[in-house]
Amino acid sequence: MSISRRGFLTAGALAAAGTAILPGTVSAKEGKGKSKAKSTAALKLSAQIWIIPGKDLPERLATMQEWGFDGVELPGGDMLDRGLPSIIGHEKLYEDAIKNTKLKVSAICGGKGTGDARIVSEDVSKRAGGVDDVKQLLTAAGALHSTGVIYVPAFNGGTKLGNFEIRKILIDTLPALGEHAHKAGTRLVLEPLNRGEAFFLRQVADGASIVRDCKNPGLGVMGDFYHMYIEETSDLGAFISGGSYVHHSHLASRIRVLPGQDERQFVDGFRGLKWIGFQDYCSFECGVRGDAKVEIPKSMAFLREQWAKA
Ligand code: MG
Repeated sequence: MSISRRGFLTAGALAAAGTAILPGTVSAKEGKGKSKAKSTAALKLSAQIWIIPGKDLPERLATMQEWGFDGVELPGGDMLDRGLPSIIGHEKLYEDAIKNTKLKVSAICGGKGTGDARIVSEDVSKRAGGVDDVKQLLTAAGALHSTGVIYVPAFNGGTKLGNFEIRKILIDTLPALGEHAHKAGTRLVLEPLNRGEAFFLRQVADGASIVRDCKNPGLGVMGDFYHMYIEETSDLGAFISGGSYVHHSHLASRIRVLPGQDERQFVDGFRGLKWIGFQDYCSFECGVRGDAKVEIPKSMAFLREQWAKA
């Protein structure tokens, strides 16, 4: 008896053939109706601290708490023009300020080694320094109970190597960084960017496949709604493809201002986050049009509406 292609692709045929569903992916069975995971997801809002108005760190944090944020994303590199030093060497400064609030530390963004492409440099002598810097950041992030350090393998122009070579280096290098992260109590989280910023790693699924191949619990991937609008054919599909490997999200509109300030919709992506039982933070990384004190709370309300519709 011949098996039709359509028949073969059903979950029943896959099960009959003994095909295992890869960990981190959603099985056809789970996809039917409301999965158990769907009910466990929650919209936990965070923002990169520099976006929040305030004269100093305590004032910014107090404002975030008042507005109903759940988490705060901290800088891995110095932002001294805004009075915000890197978390490295300033763990206690941030810990003391945050313990007076109900906020938790979401991700850490920026910092040496996380976006300078040294780990995937064509110059082999630069790679170990990149690894050491990322480890240092992971240690500091772990001390603050951060959900993860965001890592961009290479911005355009950062390395002369191509896709095949970069991926191979990552598969060889990231497990040790994942091990370091896991021991520190945090993660290294790959961030896909749009092609205008990075030709390597543009889609959530691509990042998830790297994490899958590394087989390490200290690694993850994230989705940034600004980049996803450019690179993904479906926000829902992107997050489902990332599955349990997805551990952070950046929020921005199509033109990279606050969600709700242009036509960009979040329902489809939020549906994906609900589907995978997302437990991490959705964090503002964007500009603000108008008065931040008015517009940020408005954007938070818009996102809660979008989440309710998803
Ligand atoms: Mg981002």
